[in-house]
Amino acid sequence: MERKAELAANLAEVKSDIKSACEKYGRNPSEVTLIVVTKTWPATDVDILAELGVTDVGENRDQEAKPKKLEVTAQNLTWHAIGQLQTNKAKSVANWADVVHSVDRIDLVNALAKATTERSQPLKCLIQVNLDPNPREGRGGALPTQVMDLAQSILALPTLQLAGVMGVAPLDEDPEPAFELLAKISTELIAVHPTANWVSAGMSGDYALAIKHGATHLRIGSSILGHRALNG
Ligand SMILES: *Cc1c(COP(=O)(O)O)cnc(C)c1O
Repeated sequence: MERKAELAANLAEVKSDIKSACEKYGRNPSEVTLIVVTKTWPATDVDILAELGVTDVGENRDQEAKPKKLEVTAQNLTWHAIGQLQTNKAKSVANWADVVHSVDRIDLVNALAKATTERSQPLKCLIQVNLDPNPREGRGGALPTQVMDLAQSILALPTLQLAGVMGVAPLDEDPEPAFELLAKISTELIAVHPTANWVSAGMSGDYALAIKHGATHLRIGSSILGHRALNG
């Protein structure tokens, strides 16, 4: 009961902050979906969150998410894969995820296509964009100039559905230039593919500013669940 009360209080606070940010920046709260990032936390927490009305959860590691989902009893959750993804994990991730936020290269698109041939519902894909002004190798995310080509390759595959874009603002820097860049790329994408209108942006430290810049999906972990051990 104690954990439930704690999660309920944190959730209420975050929801109220989301509402305030929407009011402040002229956004409609119905356009903003809260994804609670449950990485490092147990299946029991996921079930409590579901009881508290959470509909969407996010996980970043296949080896953790796969057994956790089997343990969770709540049935109607939408599961978001938010972490960098190796092609050899595509098959496994496609088994538990409803949405993959980290599609950032063509070989991953092809691996996800191969992994989803038996699916009844297409796998929703977000193109992760590297928002670092000086992008470094291996940090995850396509370069802004690669987004349109990746979008075309996802659209060509019937078992994948292009849902939009995702980004992580660089840590320890002003997140606004990053969110502005993501918003600009989203606008360009929507001009060509109007249904690819999701913008996954905003974490515990910066979600109000993400809302300011058009985020439709917030990925919030520690503000709701507490601080993770360092390996999270
Ligand atoms: C862990 C994680 C989050 C959540 O971060 P918090 O700061 O705990 O809210 C969001 N997005 C991604 C990609 C993550 O890995």
